[in-house]
Amino acid sequence: MSDFLSEKTMARHMLTLGGIAIAMSSLGALHPWIAGCGSFLVMTIVVGIVALRGDGRAAALIVAVAAMLSSGVCWYNDGDLSLVLALFISMFGTVVMGLLSAIVCKTSRNRLRKINDLETRQFELVRKVYDYDRNTCLSGEIPIFGMNSDPEAARPSTVKAHTAFGQMLTELVEPSASPVIGPDVFDFAMLLLSMQQIGHRLSSELKLDALVSAILDTTKEVLRCQHAELHLWNAREERFTNAVQSEAALLSDSVRAVLTQATPLPASFAWVMKQRRILTQRDVLAGKVEAADLSGETLPNAIAPLLVGDDLVGVLVVSDAEDEGPTFIRMLHILANHCALSLKNSQLFRTIQEMGRRDGLTGLLHHAPFLEELERMIDEAQAHNRPLTLVMSDLDHFKDFNDNYGHQAGDKVLQEVAKWWQAIMPDHAILARYGGEEFICALPGETLSRGTELAEMLRTALASHPVSYNGIQLHVTASFGVTELGNPATNATRLIRLADKALYRAKDDGRDRVEAHDPSRPEIAMMAETSQFSLR
Ligand code: GH3
Ligand code: MG
Ligand code: MG
Repeated sequence: MSDFLSEKTMARHMLTLGGIAIAMSSLGALHPWIAGCGSFLVMTIVVGIVALRGDGRAAALIVAVAAMLSSGVCWYNDGDLSLVLALFISMFGTVVMGLLSAIVCKTSRNRLRKINDLETRQFELVRKVYDYDRNTCLSGEIPIFGMNSDPEAARPSTVKAHTAFGQMLTELVEPSASPVIGPDVFDFAMLLLSMQQIGHRLSSELKLDALVSAILDTTKEVLRCQHAELHLWNAREERFTNAVQSEAALLSDSVRAVLTQATPLPASFAWVMKQRRILTQRDVLAGKVEAADLSGETLPNAIAPLLVGDDLVGVLVVSDAEDEGPTFIRMLHILANHCALSLKNSQLFRTIQEMGRRDGLTGLLHHAPFLEELERMIDEAQAHNRPLTLVMSDLDHFKDFNDNYGHQAGDKVLQEVAKWWQAIMPDHAILARYGGEEFICALPGETLSRGTELAEMLRTALASHPVSYNGIQLHVTASFGVTELGNPATNATRLIRLADKALYRAKDDGRDRVEAHDPSRPEIAMMAETSQFSLR
């Protein structure tokens, strides 16, 4: 009532009534039939609008005022109508108007109540879903979306995850409770929960491997599909690579073609790349996508581009989806956005990490990360009883070189030397710039003789290939020290110390040479045990 009598509402009612009065009085000047019918029409429209809003009191007030006004108009009308007939028409109109407004008002109220009820139930359902989720996550019992530590659930089957989630929803919603709650309400709750889950799971992974598996698992669970594939876009090489090569057996023919690059990019991938939009099988079948070359291709349910701004990070392929319900595309949109951002984050994180680990001039590892790698490799070699060889090198008379040609020429030489190391040492070798013009290389699985052989190849290459700088041919040589794990060094510090001693010997014996550590020379072994390692 207070709302009905509030200043704002009253002002609105007065304005409405004023408008009606003006309309009726102007109609009153016309023929009495026109005046009567016109007034009736105007009043019915106004009352109908008010009643539609479910405002019964306002409708009743307007009907009452209308009755009074129409009676007044009839009373003073000096037309052809008799007073009784005029009053009868006026009363009849008022009753009809009143009845109509009552019916409309009641229907609108019912409708509004249902909408409110639906909203309340939806929010109640979502609140319960969140509570359930929070409690079960806290207790760590239910693998919602495979979030527990059970190794089987770490890569959950869709059936398992769906069963857990489906059970939860069945518990929360009794189908008989309200005929209004249908699948859309499930989707609404599912959508909110999934958004929360997607955000949580994907934003907490920075390592690419873990992120890729989180993306694929989340896609399968959220979109209820049997297969999901993630293809990362390599902008430099202009090709896609599957993020999970091991799942190659599951790939569709078109995707395998992308991987092997045996055929050009499938039309579906090309379309998604060009249009930057989600491509769905349903749209293609319905003829909503205009691309003739798509007709020959067996399409998955959907292919979504993973975009960050204008940057294409990859594509997400969804196949064998249970059903494409009303939220399928909405969910895929949300998922694709999250995936793209998480992948970009992971890529940036890796780049920054690598920037910290690598030397800016040569691109080789820094000293500290090299030591970490070396320790890991020593553990592995010892665990599997495999050889490991270390090669260390120092450029000869490099101080003089800088003095003669300048530091910029020196830098260019360091870059070229790094390239030679990368070219000659095998792929599994770990290379680092150990100090200013000192390089080091760990060769897992290689013996002392193989390490010496490789060092000799590198020495020869450096000595016989001058570096070209500003039209000048610059000659540099290097000395090398080589040693093998367990001969006798058994840890990283001793291994490096022995390689360093062998390198000292190479310097002492005239430079531009390779010296392998010889354990049969006791003075060297002794030096290695007692003296501290130092950089030249
Ligand atoms: P040796 O044959 O005994 O090794 O003589 P050397 O002159 O090379 O002596 P040492 O190894 O001590 O020389 C290190 C020199 O390397 C000093 C420095 O001028 C140069 N150097 C170190 N880092 C850099 C670098 O980043 N750029 C350039 N241009 N020179 C560097
Ligand atoms: Mg030197
Ligand atoms: Mg040096």
